[in-house]
Amino acid sequence: MQRLIVIGGGAAGSAVVGELLRRGQPGEFDLTWLVGRQAPGRGVAYSTTAEHHLLNVRAANMGLFADDVGGFIAHGQAQGWPVKGLDFVPRAWYGDYVEAVLAREISAARERGLALRVLSTDATSVRGDDANGYVVGTADGEDFDADGVVLAIGALPSTPLAEVTEAARASHAYTADPWHWPLPRRAPERVVVLGTGLTAVDALQSAARLWPNAQLTAISRHGRLPRNHNPAPGQPYEHQASLVDALRARPQVVHWLREIRAAMDDEDVEWRSVIDGLRAETQGLWRLLDTAERARFLRHLRWLWESARHRLPQQTTNELARLRTQGRLKILAAHIRSIDVRAGERDQLEVRVQPRGAESVRSFAADLVIQATGFNISVNATDHPLIQQMVQEGVAHPDELDLGLATDAEGRLLRADSTPRHGLRCLGTLLRGSMWECSSLPEIRALAKAIACELPAELRRVAKPVSARSSTSRNAAFVSAVA
Ligand SMILES: Cc1cc2nc3c(=O)[nH]c(=O)nc-3n(C[C@H](O)[C@H](O)[C@H](O)COP(=O)(O)OP(=O)(O)OC[C@H]3O[C@@H](n4cnc5c(N)ncnc54)[C@H](O)[C@@H]3O)c2cc1C
Repeated sequence: MQRLIVIGGGAAGSAVVGELLRRGQPGEFDLTWLVGRQAPGRGVAYSTTAEHHLLNVRAANMGLFADDVGGFIAHGQAQGWPVKGLDFVPRAWYGDYVEAVLAREISAARERGLALRVLSTDATSVRGDDANGYVVGTADGEDFDADGVVLAIGALPSTPLAEVTEAARASHAYTADPWHWPLPRRAPERVVVLGTGLTAVDALQSAARLWPNAQLTAISRHGRLPRNHNPAPGQPYEHQASLVDALRARPQVVHWLREIRAAMDDEDVEWRSVIDGLRAETQGLWRLLDTAERARFLRHLRWLWESARHRLPQQTTNELARLRTQGRLKILAAHIRSIDVRAGERDQLEVRVQPRGAESVRSFAADLVIQATGFNISVNATDHPLIQQMVQEGVAHPDELDLGLATDAEGRLLRADSTPRHGLRCLGTLLRGSMWECSSLPEIRALAKAIACELPAELRRVAKPVSARSSTSRNAAFVSAVA
């Protein structure tokens, strides 16, 4: 029997565990799911209970499984939720859905006699190789032998920006975690959010509700909020195939920008359709870029792509516009120069910025600074214990541009010589370097299905001789125990 371990209890871990359970035959594998400290299912994005935190993908496209894309909307309607396919609904509802799907799949799997256990603990180490198998260590001090391991740990914990002094980091007025803020002793008059992407928008919405009198400022290099979705999707772009051919023919960022701009500038074309049409091609196109071109994309185009591709529901755009009209929200295009504790003010910070295009630096006071600069994927700089261990011991390697982990196109972790490790896969945001897009559900569920279909077969192909398998199988066949 194959021993499989999935690490990470967010939506990606849920998708791959669900796919494995749906496909598995009794006796084929035993599965250990290490879900971390949170209840399985919701992860970072769907743990919010705030009704104003909306999905940015339409309900009709948020099914957890690739062959059940409409699963979320069907579930919602069966529950009597007021949800239609084109809606952008609260993310909390999606968390409820994932939990319900998991409960259903786990109970069906148990009835069929599949071996599964779900443990609320962090994986702290992965050692071994495909010849001898892997050993996964946990924060509770247990070791589990595995033939196959899937790493679905989401993005890495955020680390404070280098421009923030030690004193500011230690103060009550700074948080690098956009989801859990220290509540200041008194309502802040001025809140600064670092970033203008989706995470920053979440933070702005919450701060605006918590402190109706606070002045909000969001800062990023280009000062550009995400664009908005149309209430209904437009017609598919008519010349999509020839556009993709042109991009494939010359994998250079400058050329791509020219081609995409030309398509979007056509006044008969809805620009969102051009961007949306590229979604299915993004991973393949990214792989065509060499390292220098990828670096060029990061320097010059990333901000533009992110704001056009990861869009906001219209309700959220309207809310931000209202805040700006009321003078409560300012968006600043600027470089952060430093953030320090204000002289003589223990709980107030001095934010020094250089506005875009300006020579001079200006500074202002903030009672709370929330760092919401988006997913942290820097493997080189992380203090995530598992990733640190895997990198230090050569089990995993950072992508060349430090955009997550180095993997092949199917998410197999690469060795130092760039050959893939069989039996050790990654799923989710840490695949940015090899796929660019694998942080939203549509991409995650597609890869989850591929892993669930291929991993058991791959392990059968590279089956280890009995002598190479650990003789003390610490997770030998067990009775299903779901925490
Ligand atoms: C604000 C926000 C809004 C979003 N909205 C959408 C949306 O509308 N639609 C969409 O498709 N996508 C959305 N996304 C993208 C979202 O990231 C994915 O949809 C999906 O939730 C990613 O899930 P994940 O499991 O990869 O990561 P996470 O949700 O981060 O889950 C990873 C889990 O792994 C656990 N973990 C970490 N380390 C370990 C360890 N060592 N051992 C065990 N467990 C560990 C963590 O505790 C966490 O529970 C949004 C993201 C954010 C941040």
